[in-house]
Amino acid sequence: MKYNQKFARLTVIAASSAVALAAMPILANHSWSNYHWATTNGIVGIPVVDNTSGEWPARIGIAVADWNKSSHINSQLESGAANPRRCSMVQNTIQVCNAGYGYTGWLGIASISLSGGHIIAGSTKLNDTYFSSPSYADEVWKQLVACQEIGHDYGLTHQNEDFSTDLTNSCMEYTSLPAGNDHPDQHDYDQLNVIYGSHTDSGSGGGSGGGKPGKGKPLGIDPGNNPNEWGTAIGFNARGKANVFTRNVNGYTVVTHVTWAPDSMQADHVRQF
Ligand SMILES: [Zn+2]
Ligand SMILES: [Zn+2]
Repeated sequence: MKYNQKFARLTVIAASSAVALAAMPILANHSWSNYHWATTNGIVGIPVVDNTSGEWPARIGIAVADWNKSSHINSQLESGAANPRRCSMVQNTIQVCNAGYGYTGWLGIASISLSGGHIIAGSTKLNDTYFSSPSYADEVWKQLVACQEIGHDYGLTHQNEDFSTDLTNSCMEYTSLPAGNDHPDQHDYDQLNVIYGSHTDSGSGGGSGGGKPGKGKPLGIDPGNNPNEWGTAIGFNARGKANVFTRNVNGYTVVTHVTWAPDSMQADHVRQF
């Protein structure tokens, strides 16, 4: 390549990066597609069922309290079975589980089941294989990921998906610098206002109008642990790595949002993208 061609190409890359950065997080329409629980009054009253063990219950309690600060979230914290590894979906609940899921590359995942255009079940897995390793064995990392995965289950996505930056104070951000990102920020609450404050549903929806929904039925849907189980890639992070997957199970659309460990990104980048 001649020098001036190369220079021109680099200039274009630099310019488009600048545009991307300027546009990136703060205007933040960061709803996760249009995924939302059906509510009759704009309040999601779905319980978070805590199946975790060890240091996790304290973390889950904080995350649930954080999300309940939204006027659109009113989740009871319920205790579930002791550490059920598969974290199968139960209608009208958000299940939260931890286990050593192995060197899968991910810190946490959030899966939702959709029916009739609405979330009808959520499930979050937290991977102790990484959280017991030196890179991630700290409370801020755990809190960030717990907060983020539960946030996905309410219909939020990330404000920023570049691991090499730290642009917000939100848990809904990919970053290698988790300090200060262990809770939702105002943009997350604003986004919940957009999702649930502007739209309600009639009839029997999952959110059940802020009341206590009846205990749901088990859906027989396991979130899975790897891309083969998650289905077709439909979303990619800033480094081009697939982080959202979808498949159909038993007539439901199941969508999984993956939080890859930042230190797993480089190897994947070299291998696939
Ligand atoms: Zn709706
Ligand atoms: Zn995420």
